[in-house]
Amino acid sequence: MADQKKRRTGLYPGTFDPITYGHLDIIKRGLKLVDRLIIGVATNPSKNPLFSLEERVAQVRRETAHLAQQSASEVEVLAFDELLMHFAESAGASIIIRGLRAVSDFEYEFQMVGMNAHLNPEIETVFLMADAKYQPISSRLVKEIAAYGGKITGFIPPRMVSEVADRMKSR
Ligand code: ADP
Repeated sequence: MADQKKRRTGLYPGTFDPITYGHLDIIKRGLKLVDRLIIGVATNPSKNPLFSLEERVAQVRRETAHLAQQSASEVEVLAFDELLMHFAESAGASIIIRGLRAVSDFEYEFQMVGMNAHLNPEIETVFLMADAKYQPISSRLVKEIAAYGGKITGFIPPRMVSEVADRMKSR
């Protein structure tokens, strides 16, 4: 039936603490691959995040709003606190999108793909690379630079720059 045409849903999971231009570049590319992109914001208490889960969800929604408007695909930002594969299944995702930066990301991702494929072989993991100028950006380094009062413009969107700086001051 025409109205049952298969829509492809992708899940892009991460901590997004804070969301960077690297993440946004991957989201832009991911939107070309799917009809609906779910950005899954992980609780990740073990990473001791700078921003609460609610704050990160609100920030990711705000910073991706323009991409959602420009794209024919739908964007949904959801929090999750469960096994990635369980969340992907309940969200109806057929692909998981991950970004690859350097060789250092590879080892962990390699293991994740193997384990996740075992949990659900129907869900494929797809790796995307950001534009070269965004590849070196990581949330962890943004926080380290900000903690020592360094300049973080160019790594994260302008409103995130002030929110990270304010949070660092209040810590
Ligand atoms: P995680 O807690 O899963 O590492 P992150 O929020 O740090 O979450 O990253 C989410 C995803 O985005 C991961 O797949 C990560 O490799 C990818 N990513 C982060 N920064 C970049 C970047 N600069 N270029 C490409 N991919 C990136």
